Amino acid sequence: MAQSLRENLLENKPYVDLVLGPDSYRRLPQILEQRQQQPDHVVDAKLSRFEVYEDLFPRRHAGINAWVSIMRGCDKFCTFCIVPFTRGRERSRSVSNIIEEVTQAVEEGFPEITMLGQNVNSYRHEDHSFADLLAGTAAVPGLKRIRYTSPHPQDINDDVLLTMARHDNICDYIHLPLQAGADRILRRMNRTYTREYFMRLVDRIREILPEVGISTDIIVGFPGETDEEFRQTLGVMEYVKFDSAFTFKYSPRTGTKAAEYGDQVAAEKSQDRLEQLIKLQKEHTLFRNRQMIGKHVTVLVEKESKRSAEMWAGRTDANKWVIFPKQSARIKDFVTVEIKAARGVSLHGDIVSLEQK
Ligand code: SF4
Repeated sequence: MAQSLRENLLENKPYVDLVLGPDSYRRLPQILEQRQQQPDHVVDAKLSRFEVYEDLFPRRHAGINAWVSIMRGCDKFCTFCIVPFTRGRERSRSVSNIIEEVTQAVEEGFPEITMLGQNVNSYRHEDHSFADLLAGTAAVPGLKRIRYTSPHPQDINDDVLLTMARHDNICDYIHLPLQAGADRILRRMNRTYTREYFMRLVDRIREILPEVGISTDIIVGFPGETDEEFRQTLGVMEYVKFDSAFTFKYSPRTGTKAAEYGDQVAAEKSQDRLEQLIKLQKEHTLFRNRQMIGKHVTVLVEKESKRSAEMWAGRTDANKWVIFPKQSARIKDFVTVEIKAARGVSLHGDIVSLEQK
């Protein structure tokens, strides 16, 4: 916001005191002091090539999942995305520093951590890759679950997948943004992979991690997308049958290359495509969830179900929500649940055994 809307904020919102970018937090005390001494607002939106807030650990309240930022920025430059301009170049924290923060989160009672980054699997610090970081973090005593988001398909490799397979506490779940299923659109998006690459990658993921849950992001109505190209996206969905998907109508972001493309798709057409896509994804989610019926899955008890005070809600390793009667289980317990039904996006079942926290 500060990077891309700075001028607008200063002109139209005169009551704004400070406009700070994502790399300015460390200077906050000096900036506040400066604001005391000058009548005018302060703007500090410079991006850093190095800032990763290495030594600043967030103060956390009790909970299930601790978000741990491992890298910042993005060098991929997808043509629809403003992130490389607002977050700057990729830079990563050291493995030792991340493990220190994870250890602290575990000591504070968090059973799960999620590694965060704009492009999490392009993590690189000195000689350490993302797979090295995963392996190092998996060895933190008491850490029950590791998740990460969001990776880029180009940077998912065998090292990452085999590391996931080797460690029980790295969840069998990958969020794998497809964005589009036609090669011409992928090229216009500058996504750096083809439809074929994506489908072979999914094959490889499922070969190494047979129980994996895969979710995705898809954009419809990207500039120039034809009916046939949209059908190719549906074709990839049919092939993969994602467990879930975040679906979006393309909307131009000022300052991106795609916003300047002349062949924007009409709003009604995009809406129609979005509805088709949502309908198909619902079928696939149900298809995947029905395959779980009769299975025993490990669930981390996370919260009371929204529907009933008698039920718990928790997620499987593969990131599927399961609703089940509470019995004697408590929040943060790991329970084995027999899946009895698949309804909507969630699974329903009964506890068959319980591991108290
Ligand atoms: S969509 Fe993701 S990979 Fe592409 S530029 Fe944005 S943050 Fe980077």
